[in-house]
Amino acid sequence: MEVRINNSILALVEGDITREETDAIVNAANSRLAGGGGVDGAIHRAGGPSIMQECRKIGRCPTGQAVITTAGNLKAKYVIHTVGPVYQGGTKGEAALLKSAHLESLKLVSAKKLKSAAFPAISTGVYGYPVDEAAHIALTTIIDYLKEHADIELVRFVLFGLKTYEIFAAELKKII
Ligand code: ADP
Repeated sequence: MEVRINNSILALVEGDITREETDAIVNAANSRLAGGGGVDGAIHRAGGPSIMQECRKIGRCPTGQAVITTAGNLKAKYVIHTVGPVYQGGTKGEAALLKSAHLESLKLVSAKKLKSAAFPAISTGVYGYPVDEAAHIALTTIIDYLKEHADIELVRFVLFGLKTYEIFAAELKKII
């Protein structure tokens, strides 16, 4: 599914983010930037050890913030590592932190003057965020940003599995 936001395209696809050819891909990292399972493990496996070497130099990243490295063997030029919140029932500031994770990632896209970026469904795996709530926050944050930043041509959500894709698509239809 694809929608136009002023001059930009927002696309939802089902797939594996490590195969994306956007300028940057976003990693759902942990605050120690230590790698792990899920999308984080997949990105480090596919990208090779240079990404972890850069992560070690950076050290850590607080929840809701983002840092950027190059992308090793991946087709993307950069990996933006952001840390979404662990879902603890929704009353611990999770929504603001998830919004911030998306916003800080987008600010790095702008800072590097990149034209395109791909996001996974941050916090919806091991961190347990309900996919519909996470989709609403992710989509509204990115749509609002694209309205103000026409220099970003393309944002793709790369969703792992049909179920996650369908929930994101349903939320996007409610928003537009
Ligand atoms: P978090 O710890 O932020 O919850 P996870 O990696 O556990 O991060 O999950 C985030 C989302 O990324 C989940 O929807 C998961 O299914 C998805 N995911 C896992 N591997 C990939 C991949 N290769 N490409 C895109 N999404 C992926």
